[in-house]
Amino acid sequence: MSQVPVFNKTRIAPTPSGYLHLGNLLSFTITAGLARRHKASILLRIDDLDQPRVRKEYVEDIFDTLEFMGIPWDEGPRNYEEYTNSWSQVHRVPLYEQGLQYLRSVKQVFACNCSRSVNYPGACLEKNLSLGVDSFNWRLRTDQSITVSITACPGTASSYSLPDSMQHFIIRKKDGNVAYQLSSVIDDSYFGVDLVVRGQDLWESTLAQVYLASLLPGNNFTETGFYHHSLLTGPDKQKLSKTAGATSIRYLRGQGENAAGIYTMLGKMLNCEGAPCNWEQLFNVLSPSVY
Ligand SMILES: [Zn+2]
Repeated sequence: MSQVPVFNKTRIAPTPSGYLHLGNLLSFTITAGLARRHKASILLRIDDLDQPRVRKEYVEDIFDTLEFMGIPWDEGPRNYEEYTNSWSQVHRVPLYEQGLQYLRSVKQVFACNCSRSVNYPGACLEKNLSLGVDSFNWRLRTDQSITVSITACPGTASSYSLPDSMQHFIIRKKDGNVAYQLSSVIDDSYFGVDLVVRGQDLWESTLAQVYLASLLPGNNFTETGFYHHSLLTGPDKQKLSKTAGATSIRYLRGQGENAAGIYTMLGKMLNCEGAPCNWEQLFNVLSPSVY
């Protein structure tokens, strides 16, 4: 057998805007499994920049659920107090601001006052709107010729075009806050993350983030290995959301389920063989394509 490549660090990055659900648990299971396999440590990063949606009970649910489900992490807050004192993204706003100002200084950004649209045709590209107006988005200058190299875990690097949905993507929102793509890439580089496990729904974000990393001096995110897993869907084949109450771990615990029962339930939803009782067993019975 060929040698398993070694990574330094991966992360789990929940957003405290709802209770964690079975879809999050699947992602954590694959992250923990791949971390062990590739000798990477695990960082817990709580993505809380969208402050109006953050609630204390959702932050506490992250610690409760990880502990209840036996998901390990090596770095990051262990409780609500450590999170607010040292680990909230709020503490890293100056870093994000530095990134924004750098991109502005190298003329990679333009202001946009359009209402939000998914595929942005670049209507404001030549308008020269002022970047000093708080209520404008900042968008990145991109074009169709951009290609991004992504290293798969495990596997080799392949080249992809920046998709239409990510042309001129937003890096600073109208409310003045840095957008997810930039905060995420700055955080991952800051913490030395070199293995990212995330849902397939974030594939286009990955392309945007690796492109951003290539523009930022000293940002190592371009070297990162990625594993994009398929998403857990509900009975209606829709992606689970945080409002899907009946699949929240908290709800299942309230119904008397223990951790083993919840892993078994998740295994059934994924059509796995046997009845996995913990994340190691679930990881092992998931498709070998995971490795
Ligand atoms: Zn615009």
